[in-house]
Amino acid sequence: MAESPRRLTELPGVGPRLAERLARLNLYTVADLLLHRPIRYEDRTRLQPIGTLRPGDRALIEARVEWSEVARGRRRRLLCRVSDGTGQLDLVFFNFHPRQAERLQRGVLLRCFGEVRAGYAGPQMAHPEHERVAPGDAGGVADTALTPVYGSTEGLHQGQLRKLVGAALAMLPDQMPDHLSAEDLPDPSWPGLKEALETLHRPPAETDPGGLLEGRHPAVRRIAYEELLAHHLSLRRRRQAVRSDRGAPVLKDGQGLSAVLHSRLPFPLTAAQARVDAELARDMAESAPMLRLLQGDVGSGKTVVAALACARTVGSGYQAALMAPTELLAEQHFRSLCGWLEPLQVEVAWLSGGAGAQHRRRDLQRVASGEAAVVVGTHALFQEQVAFRSLGLVVVDEQHRFGVHQRLALKEKAGGVEPHQLTMTATPIPRTLAMTAYADLDVSALDERPPGRQPVQTVVVSEQRRGEVIDRIRAALAEGRQAYWVCTLIEASPELAAQAAEDTAAHLREALTGHRIGLVHGRMSATDKEKVMGAFAQGGIDLLVATTVIEVGVDVPNASLMIIDNAERLGLAQLHQLRGRVGRGRAASTCVLMYHGPLSESARQRLAVLRETEDGFAIAQRDLEIRGPGEMLGTRQTGALGLRIADLGRDADLLEPVQQQAGDLLHGRASIAEALIERWVGQAERYGQV
Ligand code: ADP
Ligand code: MG
Repeated sequence: MAESPRRLTELPGVGPRLAERLARLNLYTVADLLLHRPIRYEDRTRLQPIGTLRPGDRALIEARVEWSEVARGRRRRLLCRVSDGTGQLDLVFFNFHPRQAERLQRGVLLRCFGEVRAGYAGPQMAHPEHERVAPGDAGGVADTALTPVYGSTEGLHQGQLRKLVGAALAMLPDQMPDHLSAEDLPDPSWPGLKEALETLHRPPAETDPGGLLEGRHPAVRRIAYEELLAHHLSLRRRRQAVRSDRGAPVLKDGQGLSAVLHSRLPFPLTAAQARVDAELARDMAESAPMLRLLQGDVGSGKTVVAALACARTVGSGYQAALMAPTELLAEQHFRSLCGWLEPLQVEVAWLSGGAGAQHRRRDLQRVASGEAAVVVGTHALFQEQVAFRSLGLVVVDEQHRFGVHQRLALKEKAGGVEPHQLTMTATPIPRTLAMTAYADLDVSALDERPPGRQPVQTVVVSEQRRGEVIDRIRAALAEGRQAYWVCTLIEASPELAAQAAEDTAAHLREALTGHRIGLVHGRMSATDKEKVMGAFAQGGIDLLVATTVIEVGVDVPNASLMIIDNAERLGLAQLHQLRGRVGRGRAASTCVLMYHGPLSESARQRLAVLRETEDGFAIAQRDLEIRGPGEMLGTRQTGALGLRIADLGRDADLLEPVQQQAGDLLHGRASIAEALIERWVGQAERYGQV
């Protein structure tokens, strides 16, 4: 059943030069070409009266030449006035052959296609495609299908592409057999693959091109469904492959360290934490490597779950590494893990870029010898000459998942065993989307907050009320509370953002004399940032002015007020993350979203969503609706999916049936699954794009 894809170079007329140009469009096989989606359609199926044309229309006309002349102005050009009885139009040619001028004699009947522009003496078409028609030549007046226009590249003409696509269509169904029957489709009235592809490239004259372009037409839905299915199958197959790899250490915690840690925690685990902990324990006790994503809202208590997994690893005689995206967070994790693990005689090392060379050498040594059982750091953990004695678990906080290549590199670092992996994210994505984008991972969710949290009251105010906002800070500080002021200006430039934060801090120092005001921004050295954050955490600073560097993970329970300046500039996920810095203690907390009007419609929606809910999963769902999945997952994620026809947002309703059918295919019709993966993802896999 596995089809061997026919290379485009096997088609007549495709030499190395043309093949190279097609490759620039990622077109290698006949199937690739058939899945190259038109970016628009032109209607050459009917003649349009000149009198009805407007500038910007692309139209087919049939008209008689009235006169033509070679005009000599700044540039020589051939002008040809035509008329069809409803109006007149000028054809303009700048580069022309002398014989062309002769052919456009008075009385000649022409059929032209081109874009209408407003010209000096009425409507014009510059360089229209045109042909002479014999008088009374009524047959074959026009095309019977809409004409596709493709995304192209230099040196590759629409005409060439259309011809190649035509040749490819003629090879159907041999070159692209339909693997799905009508019963396999979510809607049995959808066309089969051959018909769908023919409609995509040669829509019958009466087709609404909008439906094709926007993906509402059943032909496009049919193809999009197959594409989503193929991608999902490919991720599931990858997961199966990882599962069947028996190279991971079995971590059963013979020493019972995780149980000891559990019993000594100052709080009981939430039900969600206990559930996820059990899921991790089960995964890690197997020789197939764990690949698990932990989605948990800000403040849901992911760190302690990670600490329990680290204890379980160490209790099994292996090392655990925890990677954080910033020094600040790594340092905070280091402190938390030290607090929990050192009483259990577990040594925790911190590998930071900021540490001195001597320190670093000693820490590297401790990691290599296994003396340090747990290691915390930034991505430098996996880049440099860090060697582990026996790495059994890797936890990645607030990061996108590892790609295939990074996984292999990790395996090397771990001396050939495949470490278990836990990726944690505070940016939950909706369930259906997660199942599609993360089908190669198991997903756990911490969907419950530790008890005793006060809800955060969120208010939206215009910056014209800055004075009142400052009064509010004064009142909070007077009660012994702490506050954040987040500057969101000019993310693109760290210099300008730092400057803006410095100016704001200076203003606030004037307005709030007698209070201790600290400042952190991205231009400061890691040590300085850490000093300020440390002081804030210890209560030595009352108000912390910060750029968005504090976004992830920072935990200061006494801070109960957050002002987000220019809140309208940030996305929902980021605002939600920032807000999660408050509401961590016993006091009632407030988040003030201060905006500079006028607000765009989407900014208004974002701020309203935040005012309504604190539920990260609900916010993620709204984010999906407002922004669409591409933005939400980040370009890396959707780029990795590399969808050609489907759109995760528009076709979200297909994801559920895709999952079901993927299960059926993998179990019952594996060869079809293979063929679909090869057709849609084969290229990307061969060229190492996933
Ligand atoms: P996040 O999921 O955002 O990383 P953290 O792990 O930083 O959250 O936890 C936030 C705070 O909640 C920390 O101070 C942590 O000690 C505390 N915490 C975690 N789990 C519980 C629990 N079950 N009961 C009470 N407090 C908890
Ligand atoms: Mg965290």
